[in-house]
Amino acid sequence: MAGIYFHVPFCKQACHYCDFHFSTSTNHRDEMVDALCREVALQADYLARQDAAIETIYFGGGTPSLLSAADVDRLVGAVASHFTIDRDAEITIEANPDDINDGYLKSLHATPINRFSIGIQSFFEEDLRWMNRAHNAVEAQDAIKRVQHAGYANITADLIYGYPLLTDAKWESNIGRLVDMEIPHISAYNMTVEPRTALAAFIRKGQQMPMDEAQGASQFNQLMDALAAAGFIHYEISNFAQPGNDARHNSNYWKGIPYIGLGPSAHSFDGGTRQWNVRNNIQYIRSIQAGRVPCEQEVLTMADKLNEYIMTSLRTIWGLDLERVETRFGARRRQALDRAMAPFVASGDITLEGAVAALTRKEKLFADHIAAELFVDDEA
Ligand code: SF4
Repeated sequence: MAGIYFHVPFCKQACHYCDFHFSTSTNHRDEMVDALCREVALQADYLARQDAAIETIYFGGGTPSLLSAADVDRLVGAVASHFTIDRDAEITIEANPDDINDGYLKSLHATPINRFSIGIQSFFEEDLRWMNRAHNAVEAQDAIKRVQHAGYANITADLIYGYPLLTDAKWESNIGRLVDMEIPHISAYNMTVEPRTALAAFIRKGQQMPMDEAQGASQFNQLMDALAAAGFIHYEISNFAQPGNDARHNSNYWKGIPYIGLGPSAHSFDGGTRQWNVRNNIQYIRSIQAGRVPCEQEVLTMADKLNEYIMTSLRTIWGLDLERVETRFGARRRQALDRAMAPFVASGDITLEGAVAALTRKEKLFADHIAAELFVDDEA
């Protein structure tokens, strides 16, 4: 079964580290919701018939909690009018703490939303200001309690580590607060400096220290230790869940299950092609109004598909299944992969259990780098 992703490209203000696509002007919000509904119809044939039942819907962004409950209902309704939505579908909304109040939660109760992803990032006021987040420390704490009090148990929260203001003691405190609040799923990201962000500009001008890789690595270890002690399963590099609480939508990405991405900058994948929409709100709206999805598409080669599998599987607890590689991609590519992997197995950075390869704990932080070393080309 497949997934649907809605990209809601509006934010109240720009976080200094963020390079997602969004606008701080909500002038075109209603037109955007109309366009997203229309894009559901325009993209309905993208998935093969057998994939067309929907197991997960994810409202991401940007800031989806800037949508009203009526908008959310309309968008889920648009999906329902073109697809069968699984009775137990996971329907997630990303919500920022400053948008979460009792009135909003009450209105969302009447929608099919059954999972919240809350962008906490930190419980420390000075850190939130440094990031230029729209919420404050009190709102961070209150948001979780309010969502729990409204009856939602399926909650995930995001945290960020590896930035100069975050001492190890503060990091321990941030993790501990989520554990104490019995959040069943946590996503934690090492602060990265993307080129077109305010953070990158501050560093270029010498107004800000660069991120310290050693701090990031050490706080990643701290994170793994703390969450393992609290019973979380580290099922993907940045994701930790209490048993049975894995994020189904994201897990399906990593397992190569098809999805349709709707909205400006959203990506879609049908198993054989990947396509991505224009990163511009007005161009997106005008194109959809004219009945055309403004996207580019690439047809994936066998090597592209295998490399994608290598990249995603090494990031997960399920690992890289070499027998699956042989079945799907042929004995020649399996042999090429075995050869590329041999030095990592010899050095102990990759472990082999039967035919399943996995990264050791110490190498998890370098998953993308190691995966890139294993990539095969179409000649293999
Ligand atoms: S709220 Fe999220 S999407 Fe918006 S600027 Fe901040 S990090 Fe980026």
